[in-house]
Amino acid sequence: MARWIGLGLALALMTLCGVIGWRTMNFGAAKLAPLALSGAQPPAVDAGLVAQHLGEAIRFATIANPDPALQDNSAFEGLQAWMAATYPALHAAAPPQRVNGLALLLRWPGSDPSLAPLLLAAHQDVVPVEAASEAQWRAPAFGGTLFEGAVVGRGAIDDKGSLVAILEAAEGLAKTGFKPKRTVLFAFGADEEVGGRGATAIAALLAARGEKPWFVLDEGMVIVQSHPVTRQPVALIGIAEKGYATLRITARGMPGHSSVPPKDLAVSRLARALIRLERLPLRSGVSDGPAGAMLRALSGQIGVPTRILLANEWLFGPLIEAQLSRDPRAIALMRTTMAPTMLTGSSKDNVLPGAAQALVNFRLHPRDRSDAVLAKARALLRGLQGVELEWAAPPREASPVSAIDSLSYRLLAALAALAGDSAPPAPTLVLAGTDGRAYAEVAQDVYRFAPLRLNDDEIASVHGNDESVRIEELERAVQFYARLMMEASA
Ligand SMILES: [Zn+2]
Repeated sequence: MARWIGLGLALALMTLCGVIGWRTMNFGAAKLAPLALSGAQPPAVDAGLVAQHLGEAIRFATIANPDPALQDNSAFEGLQAWMAATYPALHAAAPPQRVNGLALLLRWPGSDPSLAPLLLAAHQDVVPVEAASEAQWRAPAFGGTLFEGAVVGRGAIDDKGSLVAILEAAEGLAKTGFKPKRTVLFAFGADEEVGGRGATAIAALLAARGEKPWFVLDEGMVIVQSHPVTRQPVALIGIAEKGYATLRITARGMPGHSSVPPKDLAVSRLARALIRLERLPLRSGVSDGPAGAMLRALSGQIGVPTRILLANEWLFGPLIEAQLSRDPRAIALMRTTMAPTMLTGSSKDNVLPGAAQALVNFRLHPRDRSDAVLAKARALLRGLQGVELEWAAPPREASPVSAIDSLSYRLLAALAALAGDSAPPAPTLVLAGTDGRAYAEVAQDVYRFAPLRLNDDEIASVHGNDESVRIEELERAVQFYARLMMEASA
């Protein structure tokens, strides 16, 4: 009997090892090869001149105001006049159209109207620089100074770097007589940092015209120099972006004087609700969604032990999650996150508030819809007396997830690998918001990628101090966008 049990166990163990081994061998095997490029060479780039132009663009302090009624248009008008003067060949070939005030749409008509257009997006606006941090910059934030081989200034990366690189690439092509076969649209929002109404209006205009882009390329991810999993350069291409929703929790209690407090207070109820909310059952994991697609794309660079774990999430799921959960960025890739950010109670230390409120900011993973999250939160907090939940503003859902087996992704992947000196391309989820999401309504696919090799310090400079881009990266970007327009017409 014991012998039979032993044999059965051995057989089960062998089967298990076989399954684990087979899954590991096949992990990432389904990925498609990047597209073969035509090899057309882009026009030569004068990197020094591109850097000078980016410096000039930075000097227009195009700070978007969250309230359009209070927007000062002068810097934007200055930038747009500068664009027209600096890129005359493109402006002649693709006359700009103002949309929703300051957003711009340029249309460079292709010779073959049966081809769906390529849409290149970038935004003209930048975030402000806090007065207190201005002195910490190595050069003035709106000076556009060339410093140690880099252009320094607010917007150098986000997103005037992309804006200028796209314009330089198109101008270079237009000047050499290039005529696109496939129409190229240029969509330059002017309020990406404060909501992206311009991109929404451009998308609505395209929809009204019945113009459906083949795909959209916007900012969002870059060629990172040290990927957290492979420790190697990776060209990360955003295929989706997270949604944004803020939950308002209101807890009510008896208002009054704090010298004679009743048993159950609004603030105590709110605290209990916040603690209980930490147990909100939101799925996490890498097998579905962009994080899994990224790991599969990088499977060749991942060590065998890690690959065994990742290929067998059905078995090692909890182990993987425990490993990855040490890094908040990995958690954010795997699941919807939530973070209490604001609290209010009474305005005086000896007054009991009749109501206490908390705001909890959610970043929605593509697998979670806001109504389902709210329903789960309500179910979890049911039974807590005097506690109400609602979205503080209409939630923004996560974007659709764009394809990675499409021709357009494979073209981008091939060009990204070329731009990244053979850094492997990999899809991923963008944790912040971009104008790109507005185009999901009209375009088949939306990708978020700027062909800049950036190290961690440079990535941290976005919206921070000393934002700067190295001149060689600008040159790389101009060549990438020119190649993209040429390949899209090949
Ligand atoms: Zn941006």
